Amino acid sequence: MHIELLPSDTLEKDGKRYVKGLRLSDKVRIDYGTARHISFIVKGDETEHSVMYFAEKFEDKQWQCDCKWYALQNKICSHIIAVNLALKNKKVKT
Ligand SMILES: [Zn+2]
Repeated sequence: MHIELLPSDTLEKDGKRYVKGLRLSDKVRIDYGTARHISFIVKGDETEHSVMYFAEKFEDKQWQCDCKWYALQNKICSHIIAVNLALKNKKVKT
């Protein structure tokens, strides 16, 4: 599946979140994938989160996370940044 990564300026928009995402990018693994959907696990300091990529959804809904921050803010969280950076830097293979 082709994964449309988020642009760098989106990932780097919030410096603090970017730094956290960069740190978490070493802790990303793939949970499972289907033809249209990939689920990643990001292991945080205390909790694990599922980040999902949906190939067929619209731009701002392609990346979703199960963390509270994402649910409340509806913006890309450090876990989504982590997965994007892990893919970009080839730390995980799809
Ligand atoms: Zn999250």
